[in-house]
Amino acid sequence: MKSLSSYVKSFALAELVKGLGVTGRYLFKPKFTVQYPEEKTPMSPRFRGHHALRRYENGEERCIACKLCEAVCPAQAITIEAQPREDGSRRTTRYDVDLYKCIFCGFCEEACPVDAIVETRLFEYHGEEAGDLLLNKEKLLALGDKLEAEIAADREQQASVR
Ligand code: SF4
Ligand code: SF4
Repeated sequence: MKSLSSYVKSFALAELVKGLGVTGRYLFKPKFTVQYPEEKTPMSPRFRGHHALRRYENGEERCIACKLCEAVCPAQAITIEAQPREDGSRRTTRYDVDLYKCIFCGFCEEACPVDAIVETRLFEYHGEEAGDLLLNKEKLLALGDKLEAEIAADREQQASVR
């Protein structure tokens, strides 16, 4: 008897009609789909995207080559070499971040005592050739210079909620 009723349901396309009923019910309701990239969802100021190195307002690099970020990085994605300058201050001669290894944990920026290495809101990037995601000091400083206003505003907002 049970199999007879399931045959009848199959011939009457009952499941299909039921499915179309659900579609019809949601057809005119507000849509939740975000039309990326034209539309974007809100982003936290703590978002951890592409890395950048910051400078002070006078143009001096913030990084003092203490290597805490290199030591704390669980993926061993950071490579630093340093030398003292003529004035005795210590600065990096090499600062590389390997984005192929990075897991975007944020430990490097948390460890930094001078807020030099940061993870920006930038997430729309890609590499077209091997090595494009190996970031050197020049690339990191250039991005820091470009996004400084946004980075500073995000840091201020984070400090105000602590
Ligand atoms: S975000 Fe994490 S994994 Fe990536 S460089 Fe910083 S410490 Fe290393
Ligand atoms: S980025 Fe910060 S933690 Fe890393 S070496 Fe420079 S000063 Fe030290």
